Parts: sequence; structure tokens; C-alpha cells
Amino acid sequence: MEVRRLGRTDMQVSRIGFGGMTIPKVSVEQAVATIHRALDRGVNFIDTARVYGNGDSERKIGRVMEDRRGEVYLSSRTPDTSYDGMKKAIEESLEALRTEYIDLYEPHDVSSSERYDPLMRTGGGLKALKEAKEEGKIRHIGFTSHNWDLIKEMIRSGEFEAGLITYNLANREAEGEVLDLAEERDVGLFVMKVFGNASLLELSPPEEDRKPTVEECLRFALSNHRLPLILTGVKSPEEIEQNVAIANSYQPLSAAEQRDLRDFGDRLGRGYCYGCEYCLPCPQDSNIPAILQLIDYQERISWEWPQGRKAYAGFSGTIEDCIDCEQCEERCPQKLPIRERLQKAHDRFAETS
Ligand code: SF4
Ligand code: SF4
Repeated sequence: MEVRRLGRTDMQVSRIGFGGMTIPKVSVEQAVATIHRALDRGVNFIDTARVYGNGDSERKIGRVMEDRRGEVYLSSRTPDTSYDGMKKAIEESLEALRTEYIDLYEPHDVSSSERYDPLMRTGGGLKALKEAKEEGKIRHIGFTSHNWDLIKEMIRSGEFEAGLITYNLANREAEGEVLDLAEERDVGLFVMKVFGNASLLELSPPEEDRKPTVEECLRFALSNHRLPLILTGVKSPEEIEQNVAIANSYQPLSAAEQRDLRDFGDRLGRGYCYGCEYCLPCPQDSNIPAILQLIDYQERISWEWPQGRKAYAGFSGTIEDCIDCEQCEERCPQKLPIRERLQKAHDRFAETS
């Protein structure tokens, strides 16, 4: 597979990287087989996080690293951006991944001052990252974030060599200033959510029956020559085969295809739930992603409406139970008006439930 340089980390990474977010959902055997298949097909970058399955993703990857560590770059991260929290997390990641070093370590989802301030303050998480780098426990320092202002600030700070951001045909905010800045500072930006955590593949614009395909989503991201590495969350060897085949044979989008997909992405809109579950837990036990996805689908796929009513009847924690604590909206990287969407779902689905 084609490899590209990931900014000033100088890592030569495969265009497609293994996203470890979904492997907690499958058995150890299936996860291990999927990782092996990825490496067999030339994928040389595996991305995971402490919080994926509460360490389960790292542990499953660790089983393969026992034998194949030398074939791959590893990336992991923690949401605890304090000095002590970062130190502890790096040790836990090293142990779970069964490795002596991690190629890239990131503070996870630095999208608010709650994580940015403890990271950047004197004696904060960044200091722990630098110490780990000096000790050879990590090789490069990156960040992940959904907040475009903070992304720019972290790129400008000169402290980060790479950064993981969102990019897909319906969310192209990275284009322009962020990519310009990263190029100027030689920060390697790599991308997640090219399928919108799979949600994108299920959606049609209102009044249309066209859904984005895996190939359209991947080709769109691969065609952006300023993005060296595209992560895809996979959970089976078949999905690896499909993604690798697309990456190995893709032709950059023509001008007409670009126009078509961009218009299509605009029609899809960005205001839908990605199912990332960062908004949870809700003190009222609301299954927010499931309810929001129901209304997202209903707005775009009218034939799902009867199924939606049936599904909604099974949910506890609707808007009627909400105590307006606002925690979910503060945590949502998409900044969705969650309570408004929950209300909409209730108005739509609760009438006959
Ligand atoms: S605002 Fe409502 S839905 Fe959101 S976390 Fe609080 S109680 Fe749950
Ligand atoms: S509401 Fe926001 S935080 Fe919650 S799952 Fe959807 S996109 Fe993620």
C-alpha cells in the first residue's frame, strides 16, 4: 500500500490506518484475526485509546503486538490530561499493548478548556508527555480534538507533531485554515470518522434515497492529498479487505465527482449524531445516541418511521425524564442541541408508544 510521511513525526504511514474503536464489540479471536489481516495487507498504523472498551481495544491489539510489534506504528491516548493522569495512562497503555514504546501518544479529545488547561499549564499533562518521550516510552506527541479553535491553537503552539481530526464528505471544516496551518508547521494531520462512525453510511439527504457508499467516503478522503493517513474503524477481516482494495485501486476524484460529492455532503448536513457515545453517561440513564439516531434516520429515511416508533417505546430516559443538567451537550464533540433533538424524537415517536 502507498505510504506517506506523517508531518514532522517522519513516520512513513500507510494511507489506510487501523482504527481500534470498534474491536471491543467483537470477540478476541475476531479482533486478532482482523488485526493480522490488516498487517498482512500492508496497513502499518494502528490507532487506539485507553477508553475504547475501557482498555479492551488496547489489550486485543497487544495480543498481536507480542509477535508483530516491528511491523507497525502504534498510537494511543488518554482523556486524563493532568500530569499524574498522563503518566499513569502511558504506563497502562504500554502494559496493555505489550510493548516497550508507543510511536504516538495523544491527549484524547482536547475539545474544551476542561482538557486543554490541565494539559498546557506548567507542570501539566504536556510535561508528562515530554518526559515519556525523553525516556523513550513514547516517540512522538500528538493531539486529538473536535474543536477547530483549539486545534489551531495546538498546531500553533509548536508542541505537537501530529493531530487526529474529523473529516468526511459532510464535515469538511478542516479544509482551508487548519490544513494550511498544519502544512506550514509540518504537523501531520490524520483523520477519523470518514464514515461518521458508520452513521454516514445509513443516511440519505431529506427527500432522496441515495446513501453514501464506503467507496465514496473513502475515495473522498483519499483524494485529499494533504491528508496522509485515513483511519477506518473495522471489526472483521472482510472490512479490511474492502478498505484496502479501495485504497490500492482508487483514482483521485475528478472535478465533476468532487462537485457531486461535496454537494451531496452539503445536503446530508452535519447536524446528525455520530454515535460516539461521548455524551454518556446521562444521570437519567437516557440512551441519547440511540434516540438521536432514530430521529436522524427518520428525518432522512421515511420508511423507518414505524420501526422508529416501536424502538422508541423500548427506551427509558426520554426528554420527559431530562433534568437539564446540560452535561451531554457539553461533552458532545458535534455540539448537537441534544435536548432539542430528544424533544423532536419524543414528539415524533411517543404519540402512539
Ligand atoms: S441534559 Fe438531560 S439528557 Fe442531557 S445528560 Fe442531562 S439529564 Fe441527560
Ligand atoms: S449526541 Fe454527540 S456525543 Fe452523543 S453520541 Fe451523538 S455525536 Fe456523540
